[in-house]
Amino acid sequence: MLYTPPYTSEPLRSEVLSFLADQPKRLFIGGQWVEGAAGRVFEKDDPATGIVFARVCEGDAEDVQRAVDIARTIFDDPRHPWRRMTPHDRERLIHRLADLIEADRETLAQLITLENGKPLTASKGEVESSVRMFRYYAGWPTKIEGDVKPVSIPDRLNYTVREPVGVVGAIIPWNFPLSMIAWKLAPALATGNVVILKPAEQTPLSAVRVCELIQQAGFPDGVVQLINGFGETAGAALVAHPGVDKIAFTGSTEVGKVIMRAAAGNLKRLSLELGGKSPHIIFDDADLPKAALTAAYGIFSNAGQSCNAGSRLFVHRKVYDEVLSRVAERATSIKVGPGMVQGSEMGPLISREQFARVQRYIAAGLAQGARLRTGGGRPPDVPADGYFIAPTIFEDVHSEMSIVREEIFGPVLAATPFETLEEVAARANDTPYGLAAGIWTRDIGRAHKLAALLRAGTVWINCYSQFDPASPFGGYKQSGFGREMGHEALELYTNVKSVWVGL
Ligand code: ADP
Ligand code: MG
Repeated sequence: MLYTPPYTSEPLRSEVLSFLADQPKRLFIGGQWVEGAAGRVFEKDDPATGIVFARVCEGDAEDVQRAVDIARTIFDDPRHPWRRMTPHDRERLIHRLADLIEADRETLAQLITLENGKPLTASKGEVESSVRMFRYYAGWPTKIEGDVKPVSIPDRLNYTVREPVGVVGAIIPWNFPLSMIAWKLAPALATGNVVILKPAEQTPLSAVRVCELIQQAGFPDGVVQLINGFGETAGAALVAHPGVDKIAFTGSTEVGKVIMRAAAGNLKRLSLELGGKSPHIIFDDADLPKAALTAAYGIFSNAGQSCNAGSRLFVHRKVYDEVLSRVAERATSIKVGPGMVQGSEMGPLISREQFARVQRYIAAGLAQGARLRTGGGRPPDVPADGYFIAPTIFEDVHSEMSIVREEIFGPVLAATPFETLEEVAARANDTPYGLAAGIWTRDIGRAHKLAALLRAGTVWINCYSQFDPASPFGGYKQSGFGREMGHEALELYTNVKSVWVGL
C-alpha cells in the first residue's frame, strides 16, 4: 500500500516511502519484528483525508505475555548486560539514540504528521524536543546518588541506593506521539528499567520508527519492546499483568481511573498524567496584545488536543471586550489545513471519533445557551473528508455548562469576564482537574498571590505552554499524580533501598 497524500507541499521522503512499503508494521518483541500472536491487523487513516494508508499488527494479551516474560528474564538476571551496564555506558547509549533520532528528524516528522495530522513544523518541533529529552536524561545515570544517613545507633552504618523499579509498561497517548514516548522512555532507561511501550492505536507509526532506531543504537534485545494495539486489550493486559512493576500512563482521566483499579492486583507503581481544563487568566494591567495572542495559542495549538490546553479563558471585565476581540481575530486568522501543506497552522483532529465528540460538545454549548463568537464547524477550504474543526470561541458561559466542566480535547475556548482576584481564583479552581494555569499581569505581587491559590501542577505567568526537560510537569486533583521531567521523574522510575551494616 503506497500512499500519496493528495494535499501536500513536499513529497514523502524516500525513507518514509520505504517505511510504508513494508506493511503491516510489526510488533517489536525480544529484539524481533513479529506479527501479533492472533494474526490480526488494524488500519490507520490520515486525519487530513480519512484515507487508510497503513496497516499495523495488532498486539493482544498473548503478545503482552511474551513481552513481559522476556522483560522479566532481563530484569531478574543480575548478569544480563543491561543490568550490568555501567552508568557511563548507559549515558552513551541514550546519547546514541538521541543522535539517531536527530538524524532521522525529517522522516519522523513526516510520519508524525501523517499519523496525527499536526503541521509539519509542529512535528519537527516535537522531534527536536524529544531529542532534548533523551539528552537531558542521558546525563542522569552518572549522577544518581544515594545518601549516608546520620543514624543514632552505635556501630551501625546506614546508606541508601536508588534502584530501577523493574519492568515498566508505558501507555502513550496520540496527541504528542513521540514526545510522550520520550517523556517516559528517557527517564526509565536512564535509571536502568526494562520498558514495554503501548502506543495509542491512533498513532502507531512513529513508535515503530523509534524502535528501529533503538535497535540501531544497540540497546540489548528486549530492553525496549513495542506492542501496538488497542487500549482495552493490549493496554489492559499490560496493566493487569503481575509481572509488570510499574505503569506510566498519559491519557484521559476516565481511563486513568480504570488503570488505577486494574493495577491493584500486584500494587503496581503508577504515574498518571491525565486530563485538564486549565484556566487562562488575564488581568487589566497585562500586556494585552501578547496575552490575547498567547491565550489563542494556548487553546488552539495542536488543535486543542493538549492536556494542558488553556480551555477556560477568564478576562478582567475592564478589558474583556478588547481582549476577546483580539483572541477572536487571531482565531479567525489561523490557517487550518492539512499538516503536510506548508503554511497550515492548525491541522485536523486525530480521528472521526474525536471529530464527532468535539462537534457534540459544540452542539451542547449552543443548546445550553452559550454564545458562539467564532468557529463552531468545519472551516472553509479544507479537504472534505478530513477531521477539521475551526477554532471556536464561546462566550456567555457559566460554570454548569459541559463545555466549561468537561475536557473537550479540541479547539474550543470558553471565555468569561471576572472582577477580583479572589473570585477568579475560586472559579479557576472550580473544576475536578488541576493540570495547568496561566496568569497575565504586570503586578508581581498579584501574580504570585494567584499562583499560590491555584490548585494546578504548573502555573505559567506571562507565558503559556512552556516545557523543558529540567522542569517537572504533572497534575493536582483528577489530573493525576507523579511528576514527569526534571529530577522528579527519577523518583517515578526508582525504588530507594536502605542498607544497614553492623560494624
Ligand atoms: P482517548 O480517549 O483520547 O483515546 P485514552 O485515555 O483512551 O485517550 O487513551 C490513552 C492511551 O490509553 C492509549 O494508548 C489507549 O490505547 C490506552 N488505553 C485506553 N483504554 C485503556 C485501558 N482500559 N487499559 C489500558 N490502556 C488503555
Ligand atoms: Mg480511548
